[in-house]
Amino acid sequence: MIEMFDGSFTQQTPIPDAAQQAALAVMQSGRLHRYNLAPGDFGEVGALEREFAAYVGARYCLAVASGGQGMQIALRAVGVAPGEMVLTNAFTLAPVPGAIAAVGARPLLVDTADDLTIDLDDLQAKLGHARVLLLSHMRGHVCDMDRLMGLCNAADVTVIEDCAHTMGAVWRGVPSGRHGIVGCYSTQTYKHMNSGEGGIIVTDDADVIARATVLSGSYMLHQRHPAGPGPEAFEDAMWDMPNMSARMDHLRGAILRPQLAQLDERCAAWTARYRVVESHLQGAQCARLIPRAPHERFVGSSIQFVMDPADPDLVTDFVGRCGARGVELKWFGADRPVAFTSRYDHWHFAAPSVLPGTDRLLSGLLDMRLPLTFSLDDCALIGRILREELERTTAGQKVTPAAE
Ligand SMILES: *Cc1c(COP(=O)(O)O)cnc(C)c1O
Repeated sequence: MIEMFDGSFTQQTPIPDAAQQAALAVMQSGRLHRYNLAPGDFGEVGALEREFAAYVGARYCLAVASGGQGMQIALRAVGVAPGEMVLTNAFTLAPVPGAIAAVGARPLLVDTADDLTIDLDDLQAKLGHARVLLLSHMRGHVCDMDRLMGLCNAADVTVIEDCAHTMGAVWRGVPSGRHGIVGCYSTQTYKHMNSGEGGIIVTDDADVIARATVLSGSYMLHQRHPAGPGPEAFEDAMWDMPNMSARMDHLRGAILRPQLAQLDERCAAWTARYRVVESHLQGAQCARLIPRAPHERFVGSSIQFVMDPADPDLVTDFVGRCGARGVELKWFGADRPVAFTSRYDHWHFAAPSVLPGTDRLLSGLLDMRLPLTFSLDDCALIGRILREELERTTAGQKVTPAAE
C-alpha cells in the first residue's frame, strides 16, 4: 500500500479563544488606533511591547506593521543612508534584501556555509565594505554568534538581526535578537505568532528606539510608549526623523498577547515535529541533514535537507513524487522565484556577487514547513514518505505513485 498525506502545509492553528475575546473587546471599544487610548491606559499594543521586551530581556520594544517594516525602520534608525552597501545573507527570503532596498541602500550578499548559516570567512572578507550587517537567521539556523559578533565589533560593523524564523529561539542562553543592536521579528501568519501582518523590534539603545518610534509614525505621541525611553531620548529624533506610518494597531496587539503567553510551548511543539521528520531522514543515502549545535535551542517550524547529488532532474523528479503523495517541498534551486521561495540571483537590485557556497547549497536544498496543525503521527507519515521516495531516487527508479 502506498501511503498518502492529505494535510495542508499552509494551514495554521486557530487564534486562541482568549485572543479572540481580546480582539472582540477592542472592536467593542472602537479604539483600534494605537494612540486612541482610554485615560491612564497604554492599550493592547503598549502591553504587548512591554511583555515582549520582558520575554527577550530587552530594555525597549516597538511593535510595527510588518517584519519588513521593522527591518527598514531598524536600518534607518541605525543611520543607513541611501547609496550605502549593507551586508546580508545570500540565503534568505526576499523581504530582507527588500528592506535594504527600501531605504535606498544596496545589499552586499555574503556566502552561505554548509549548515545554512552565513559564511563567516566570506563575511570577514567583506566587512570593510559596509557599516551595517542585516543578519538573517534564515529558517532558524543560527551561526556561531560569538565569532560573528567578535568579527563585527572588531570591524565596527553594526549588527541588526532578522529573527523572522527564530522568535523563541535561544543561542547559548541568549534569546535570538539580543546579540545585535536591534532584533527584528515578524508576526505574519507563517511565523511563530500570527496576527496576519505585524512586526516587533527590540533594542537596549535609547537613541535607536527613539528614532525607530518616530519613524514608525508616532506623530508627537512618543510618550504613549510604555516600552520606550523617556522624553529626553526624543530631543533629536523628533526633529530628524520622518514619520513613515508603520504602526501596529490594538486589534493585532490583542491577538498577539495570548500567543506570546503560549510561545515557548508552541516552539517546543514545533521542534518535536521537526525531530520526528528528521529521525526518518537520518542515514538516507542521497539526503544530507543540517546539523544543529547542542547549545542552539532552535524552533523547528520548518525542516531543510540537501539532495546529493543535486542533479536538477533528480531533484525535480523527487519533489514531484513527494508532491504526488501530498508532501509539499520547496526547492531553492528553481530558475524562477516560486511562491515564497526566491534566491539571491533573482534580486537584480543587489550588488552582483560570486557565491559558490550558496550556489552549491541551493541547487540541492529542499525545505518544508511543519505547521502545528500536523500531529506527531502526521510528521511520522511525512517522514516515511520522504524516506521511501529518497530511496527510490537512490535506486534510480522514477515512478510516480499517484499515476499507478
Ligand atoms: C517573513 C520574513 C520576514 C518578514 O516578513 P514580513 O512578511 O514583512 O513580516 C523577514 N525575514 C525572513 C527570512 C522572512 O521569512
